[in-house]
Amino acid sequence: MLKVLFIASECTPFAKTGGLGDVIESLPIALRERKIDARVIIPKYSNIPAKYKKEMVHKKTFTVPVSWRQEYGGLEVLQHEGITYYFLDNEKYFKRDGLYGYFDEAERFSYFCRGVLECLPYLEFKPDILHCHDWHTGLIPLFFKTFYQQQPFYQNIKTVFTIHNLKYQGVFPMEILDDLLGLDGSFKGDEGVEFYGKVNFMKTGIVYADKITTVSETYAEEIKTAYFGENLDGILRKYEGKLQGIVNGIDYKKYNPETDPHIYVNYRSSVVKKQQNKTKLQEDLRLPVKDVPLLAMVSRLTRQKGLDLLNYILDELLALDVQLVILGTGEPGYEQALREAAERHPQKMKAYFMFNDALAHKIYAGADLYLMPSLFEPCGLSQLIALRYGALPIVRETGGLKDTIVSYNEQTGEGNGFSFTNFNAHDFLYTIKRALDFYNNRRPIWNKLFKNAFKVNFSWNNSAQVYIALYEDLLTKEEVKGKSRLKLF
Ligand code: ADP
Repeated sequence: MLKVLFIASECTPFAKTGGLGDVIESLPIALRERKIDARVIIPKYSNIPAKYKKEMVHKKTFTVPVSWRQEYGGLEVLQHEGITYYFLDNEKYFKRDGLYGYFDEAERFSYFCRGVLECLPYLEFKPDILHCHDWHTGLIPLFFKTFYQQQPFYQNIKTVFTIHNLKYQGVFPMEILDDLLGLDGSFKGDEGVEFYGKVNFMKTGIVYADKITTVSETYAEEIKTAYFGENLDGILRKYEGKLQGIVNGIDYKKYNPETDPHIYVNYRSSVVKKQQNKTKLQEDLRLPVKDVPLLAMVSRLTRQKGLDLLNYILDELLALDVQLVILGTGEPGYEQALREAAERHPQKMKAYFMFNDALAHKIYAGADLYLMPSLFEPCGLSQLIALRYGALPIVRETGGLKDTIVSYNEQTGEGNGFSFTNFNAHDFLYTIKRALDFYNNRRPIWNKLFKNAFKVNFSWNNSAQVYIALYEDLLTKEEVKGKSRLKLF
């Protein structure tokens, strides 16, 4: 049985700030269903819900070298819904209120990378593949090749590094090379950890991993260009031979309007029951209960998510006969602008600045249209969740949005949403108005689009299979090399 260890900084239901948490939960489940022994390791954060912390079993205490220092390492294990989860415990680094944003981020995640490699012999599971995710795990391929690969236990292990968002790279002063990573100057330079005179965790993952993936085919192409490349496009072009785009899926059991315990009325693809969810949502949110299109957004409030476009057209949009609900957390400037708009239009707009999973599900179930005018979007899960609940996405054609949403084509009748090309506020507004026209004046077409949303399938069915092929390919390459070595001697 192929064995894969997922290594990441978040995983639902233990710790989540965005789509990464969803993927680290749902992809291993999908792999497991396909007879791959996929397990997961994340830091043991103090804000993991107590009910899970209580069930964890302490497996081993060991030490983790952080350069010349020896730090405590604790390995905890938990079985949850058929998957084995491991947690790396160190209160100095992970007993904090949130997941990220601390002054010693470089040290916390250097420690995590080193700690994961140190604890492998204690897992009672020797992975064939270390599947690392985003910058927090970017040092693992480097540490693996430098400190561990030659040791008998670690031989034949391969590393995969997945970029979920190239924007967040983990860039720190060069001093950490010696002080935290325990490496000398020979690791600097283009072929090493260096990025404009600093240490870059994301770049390190790209350089040292055996294979790189990112979360949609379009994003895999985009990040090789200067516009989307976040100054790593050169290095990505250099390593494009090992880069592959694989679109994310969502967990179709968790996001299932037929069984979802969070929503008001369960439904399959019924317009009537969807309407009932909308009515209840309007009541709960103190919006007038009436048949107007309900637009929604559940999102991190950052520039990436196109908040500038939304803000620019908010008053024009709210002059129309619509309602708008926003759930999100993020940059204070955006929160402020949205709060003020909601105050100006109390009968039309509600904005909630918190992370609330149950409310998110209610919004997906109650909304008619889902707004996602992203500046860039590696994959995006929200538009897939929206489709699953029959809220038609309005997206900008970038990254995974381009790969998953087909704008309604009046000639062919194809489409599962609406899209626009340029990052332009009035193109966005125009596209919203186009969608509203179908809702208000051309209901048969609207209803057809609503049905189309339920026809597409963005579960992990296809992509899990692609990952398996990728893992197998990596491992057989090694075997072929092994065989040719044998022949030589
Ligand atoms: P990203 O990972 O860039 O934040 P994605 O669309 O890939 O964006 O995933 C976002 C995930 O986080 C979705 O599951 C979305 O519903 C959820 N989410 C975002 N903000 C909130 C919030 N404030 N409350 C609840 N869920 C949220």
